[in-house]
Amino acid sequence: MPTRRTVLIHVTGQDRPGITAGLLEILARQEATIVAMEQFVVMGRLTLDVLMAVDEERATFRDLLFFGWEREIDIEFEEVEKPAADLRLQRHAVTVLTPRSTSAALHAVTDAIGAAGGNIERIRMLSSEPVAGYEFIVAGADDASLRRLVGIAAADQGVDVAVQHESLERRAKRLVVMDVDSTLIKDEVIDLLAEEAGRREDSERITAAAMAGELDFAAALTERVRLLAGLDAGMFERVRAKLRLTPGARRFVATLHRLGYATAIVSGGFTPFTDALKEQLAIDHAYANELEVVDGRLTGRLVGPIVDRARKARVLEEIAAMEGIPLEQTVAIGDGANDVDMLARAGLGIAFNAKAQVARAADTTVSVPYLDAILFLLGIGAEDIAV
Ligand SMILES: [Mg+2]
Repeated sequence: MPTRRTVLIHVTGQDRPGITAGLLEILARQEATIVAMEQFVVMGRLTLDVLMAVDEERATFRDLLFFGWEREIDIEFEEVEKPAADLRLQRHAVTVLTPRSTSAALHAVTDAIGAAGGNIERIRMLSSEPVAGYEFIVAGADDASLRRLVGIAAADQGVDVAVQHESLERRAKRLVVMDVDSTLIKDEVIDLLAEEAGRREDSERITAAAMAGELDFAAALTERVRLLAGLDAGMFERVRAKLRLTPGARRFVATLHRLGYATAIVSGGFTPFTDALKEQLAIDHAYANELEVVDGRLTGRLVGPIVDRARKARVLEEIAAMEGIPLEQTVAIGDGANDVDMLARAGLGIAFNAKAQVARAADTTVSVPYLDAILFLLGIGAEDIAV
């Protein structure tokens, strides 16, 4: 049996139709095995890499050099010592979101990647406006060092960075569960309701006590709902009209649907609003608290189980089970303390413009005020985004 050589073919030059096909025709004629292949075209300039194994005595290299001369492209060869299996290193996707395109931030992140022993195999620009998004595919980095060092660089530079295992699962994330107040919408619905009841200050005082840890979420919710007793249910319509979607929300949800994702909202707010948002954005599932209404007026009580921190996480599991989607393939997005368990439970937990203690529980943070920036963390580039 003739010896097989493993060789990396590196092709660069002006892109023209037929180069890839012509090169593969030669490899087919020489009975070469393709181990890996990648191609990029940037501003009309082609870069094509083919890792192949071929019999030693074949005239492959002579044919390839002649092909390069004929087509006016550069072809280089590099003998690869390692057997092909060793090339399948552990890979990470490091995604950087920055409101301004800054070389300093990109330098800090790439420096951190290097310090973690990682080698950048591929860089993809996901977007330029309104947020610049870059994805680095990194091979061979130590997982813990990569997360720690990249995290420090991101904090120093004030940019958002996500570190994820690069795998088929990352590309197959299929359920996105969102919080509503201050995540999908800019408002806190309880404040708008309390305002209708003329009790906004009382409501805010209870919220502050809950935030300070003097009241748990369920107690704070029950107390604030009590302030709404006697309100005419006709005001739901008026409050619904006041809700403002977070910038990019519509595009975010439309793109997810177009790409086949299931979507859900899980809210510590109330069903008259989540049901309307579900319909407006064609969201697949909606869970929230139900306000009791008797004779057209709010009683100041809730019906059924309270959607609190623990229930949000359970609902995530229930929807995933219903959709037949493994938890590793779920994404949860939220900003508040009651989102913490849900963010921790999801395959990818994203703290959206959240306080530090929420951000700490999440896998990654987004601190730009656009919901659609999250698409880049899912590896979805500008070309796939619904307009
Ligand atoms: Mg919230």
